[in-house]
Amino acid sequence: MFEQAAEGHLGDGGEDFTERFEAAWATAVAEQERNALASETEAAWGDAQRWPSYADKHVRARKRARELARKVHSWANADISVERLLRAEGEILIGRPDLVVRAPAPYRIEDYKTAVTHDETGEPKASHRRQILLYAYLESIVTGRGRPELGVIVPLKGPDIRFSIDWDEVEDEVHLAHSLVDEFNAGIGQPLTLGRPSSSACTPCPHATTCPAFWDRVASFEGSALQAVEGEVLSSQIAQTGTITVGLQITDGTIQPGKALLHRFLLSRFPALRAVSVGRRIRAVGLRVLDDEARTIVPSGWTRVTVLS
Ligand code: SF4
Repeated sequence: MFEQAAEGHLGDGGEDFTERFEAAWATAVAEQERNALASETEAAWGDAQRWPSYADKHVRARKRARELARKVHSWANADISVERLLRAEGEILIGRPDLVVRAPAPYRIEDYKTAVTHDETGEPKASHRRQILLYAYLESIVTGRGRPELGVIVPLKGPDIRFSIDWDEVEDEVHLAHSLVDEFNAGIGQPLTLGRPSSSACTPCPHATTCPAFWDRVASFEGSALQAVEGEVLSSQIAQTGTITVGLQITDGTIQPGKALLHRFLLSRFPALRAVSVGRRIRAVGLRVLDDEARTIVPSGWTRVTVLS
């Protein structure tokens, strides 16, 4: 939406703005919804209207887009680029900043954020600042137009976060990014050394059922919000409602080994479970323990299932 506003497709922020915005929003949301419904992990979220804070984001995005459309329209002799891919020969880092404004001054990088922009201490997130510093570096080497002097993080809610770009800091971040790329390349083939499992990273990760790093450390998530099990199928029963209940001998995961029940998993959402039969091994991640005593486990919005053998 911000790209369309910056490129003038939503007009100048005047009377016809709302109509233009809503049409573009409906098209963008329909595409996101199609992608989500086609994904095993995201389909459970259902229609876009039911996504967390959908209505709030809709209103805030419209307000921000109108501001941007007005601002860009008001600039005479503006020199901007919108979502341009910054890629230089011989440089492994690439980036696509939301908006680069070379004129009117100051020369700046603006990045629009729909998610939380501050960390738990109330400070602007270091990752957002780092991202803009790397964009500044790429902008300077790709365009040869000089050095951006200002970074602007634009949240959906609240004031912009503005900071001067310190080029010593840019060099440090570029150096760090290059060394992380080298470390990554050296570690390919040894996934246990590369993976950094955490509840927040692994819960939505589509690779969690097969990731060696996650399963190497799965026991450390016991008692956390991230529940995962591996086990051998003891029984399976399909109900007329299109759900399957699987008796499992748990051998690994966040739940103590022993018998448990994977209860009422929708086959339309977990088609892999159609193939389960006694003796097969499965893994499931992103579970919810419904009843500790009865060891009854149900799916959550993040559940993924893989049949191993
Ligand atoms: S499951 Fe593996 S690949 Fe996915 S976030 Fe966790 S550690 Fe990284």
